[in-house]
Amino acid sequence: MRVVLGDAEDLRVSLLEWFECNGRHWIPWKLKANGKLPNSGETLPVYGIWIAEVMLQQTQLRVVLPYWEKWMQTFPSIAILANANEQEVLLHWQGLGYYSRAKRLHIASKVLVALCEGNSDNSGKQFSWPRQVEEWMKLPGIGRSTAGSILSSAFDLPTPLLDGNLKRIFSRLIASPHPPSKDEFRLWSFSCELLDVKSPRKFNQALMDLGATVCTPNNPKCLICPIKSYCLSFAFYDPRDFPTKIVKNSIPSYVIGIGIVINTAGKILIAQRLPDKTMGGMWEFPGGKQEQDEAIEHTIARELREELAIDVQVGKKLIELDHAFSHKKFHFIVHLCQLISGQPQPLASQQLRWVLPNELEKYPFPVANTRMITALHEYLYSSKIATNQ
Ligand code: SF4
Repeated sequence: MRVVLGDAEDLRVSLLEWFECNGRHWIPWKLKANGKLPNSGETLPVYGIWIAEVMLQQTQLRVVLPYWEKWMQTFPSIAILANANEQEVLLHWQGLGYYSRAKRLHIASKVLVALCEGNSDNSGKQFSWPRQVEEWMKLPGIGRSTAGSILSSAFDLPTPLLDGNLKRIFSRLIASPHPPSKDEFRLWSFSCELLDVKSPRKFNQALMDLGATVCTPNNPKCLICPIKSYCLSFAFYDPRDFPTKIVKNSIPSYVIGIGIVINTAGKILIAQRLPDKTMGGMWEFPGGKQEQDEAIEHTIARELREELAIDVQVGKKLIELDHAFSHKKFHFIVHLCQLISGQPQPLASQQLRWVLPNELEKYPFPVANTRMITALHEYLYSSKIATNQ
């Protein structure tokens, strides 16, 4: 590898020169309280960086920014986050997806506060944030790359990282014939070897910015790339063919019947997911998977009987919508339902609640359910108008 054997220093210089003029120097958690960039070796507030790094796992910067701003207003310090209840934390994560990240962040805040007992990051008191990659990796939800990114961003420590952007850049630089997941050892070695120990914060950020703006997944702008003369895939291949992909099996898809049960008092029945399930602790409208050759009305009636011990009259269809995860797809068919008999019991959930439509926003729901809530409000609003006419 040409870069590793001789030209690493030249590459670093080219990349850092490009970064000075083209880097994303406006990212709020990478700035000091006065809005200025930190000097070399200067410490930045760790809490905001840690929150941002966890939010950025599997989510793009432009999506994260408004969530981070709101989060920092509601939970401005680790002590406040550690004392918040989980429902409040999940509510502020609503819409970001991968909700286990929020739960782990919350648990980690309690662990950190306990570790640094007696200290606080509020009002000038010193909070002893960990400064070792290994210490961060003991916290739930923190891997080596996130730990490295927190430490280099906050303390300008020489910790390498290997997020999705860097895996793509390195795979292209060395024209790796292997998918990144099968080439981790080599890519980590490359990251360690390439890191600029004199300016680790700037160097890591420069790589991330290059990956976000130049060495992009589908359309790398190689002609304006500051490190193109070190890039094997640019010299000999088509960079878009890197990183090599794993051939995936087709993604399974499911049809889900959902029942929005409204009682005579106009309240809606919602269920809290079991803690050990995906999105555990969040709330949802009850329902389940359609079986082969089953009419969707039967699916909804059956699921509500099995999971809530109630019989319902399945009525008008409210909405159909698709929602995809990386590993499976769902098609939701949502019907309004009327309770015929039975006292709802949480046979497959933590608890059930009857809530007024305007109370739904107080509960954290997965994204697909929030679209159902919007459709429900529209339906209730138009029904009210029709009734008043
Ligand atoms: Fe990426 Fe192209 Fe630059 Fe290589 S030359 S690092 S493929 S943008």
